[in-house]
Amino acid sequence: MADTLIKVDLNGSAYDNDKIHNRWHPDIPIVEWVSPGDDFIIETVDWTGGQIKNDDDAADVRDVDLSQVHFLSGPVGIKGAQPGDLLVVEFLDVGAFPESQWGFNGFFSKKNGGGFLTEHFPEAQKSIWDFKGMFTQSRHVPGVSWAGLIHPGLIGCLPDHKMLNEWNTREKALYDTEPDRVPALATLPYAETAHMGRMKGDDAKKAAAEGARTVPPREHGGNCDIKDLSRGSTCYFPVYVEGGGLSMGDLHFSQGDGEITFCGAIEMAGWLHLRVNLIKGGMAKYGIKNPIFKPSPIKPEYKDHLIFEGISVDEGGKQHYLDVHIAYRQACLNAIEYLKKFGYSGAQAYAILGTAPVQGHISGVVDIPNACATLWLPTEIFDFDINPNAEGPKKFIDGKIDVPLAKDL
Ligand code: ZN
Repeated sequence: MADTLIKVDLNGSAYDNDKIHNRWHPDIPIVEWVSPGDDFIIETVDWTGGQIKNDDDAADVRDVDLSQVHFLSGPVGIKGAQPGDLLVVEFLDVGAFPESQWGFNGFFSKKNGGGFLTEHFPEAQKSIWDFKGMFTQSRHVPGVSWAGLIHPGLIGCLPDHKMLNEWNTREKALYDTEPDRVPALATLPYAETAHMGRMKGDDAKKAAAEGARTVPPREHGGNCDIKDLSRGSTCYFPVYVEGGGLSMGDLHFSQGDGEITFCGAIEMAGWLHLRVNLIKGGMAKYGIKNPIFKPSPIKPEYKDHLIFEGISVDEGGKQHYLDVHIAYRQACLNAIEYLKKFGYSGAQAYAILGTAPVQGHISGVVDIPNACATLWLPTEIFDFDINPNAEGPKKFIDGKIDVPLAKDL
């Protein structure tokens, strides 16, 4: 059995664990060292550090402190890793803890986080998903179950000072174009809730004030939320500092492409079994700026899909120029309208698109003025037939069961 290098306590606070941090900064001390070729286990809390509970009330989603996220386990140092190398990470396995066989999905309130469809679903809601081995289902979303494609939403190496400075500068410039926007255009450094791992004293204070937030994906990978970066895959990460400093968290039992619900996929605490290696000078050798990866040899096989198209014309009928964001939103909204005909509430349909192994494709980006995006909904995850036919949709659900909604916004 491989050694567990980082352990977590699901009943304790992530702030009390000095092998956890929640900002990106080159000076966060490495907490464990491994050698190329080693395999080891890393445990992680869920991305919110236990703020969301297994119950039927979405007040915790509504009131979540988003300045605390994401809690990451690490950084792990790899002996011999130097700036310019590629760190090869094999995801030998990823799983949930035996004592924590559940996860959550939610939509943030528009006033606290928002999300892809926040104009349509402005209130906080959540659904709880129970795991039975490799399968999941929810008491809040009946009629569906599927096999998980478990993956870390967030993993990457520490940035160097130059890269950190670039991130902070460009994100602040964007933020400043509309500083009063709700939700904000970007998440800026925020010292108050920063957890800088083992850094102490004035060093920690200074680093906390400039540490990059973990929300966006960046050159190092980070919060990419790619469902196919799953157990069995191999990822090649750019190295910027001595030792690399690999950190990870935000485990997902399953997620649809785009993680459109934002809070988030099926979020869970759990563990990763990893093996690491180095390709010396790999960034220059292969022209690497952002990570590349190879998929898993195994994944759930859902071959049949119902595919929804969307174009870059918004809900108000306004024409946009090749805007893939708007086109994918239309594809998602079209899928939600369709599923509502079978008795699902809009919220339940939205939850399915955020959590099921839904594929999102950029289908066309040249046919001016419309981009075309498609959403591939696997039909086999449903307990009933969702295909169109001459008789019309049969209501499977009478609409009484809804995802719980937090009151008093
Ligand atoms: Zn997540």
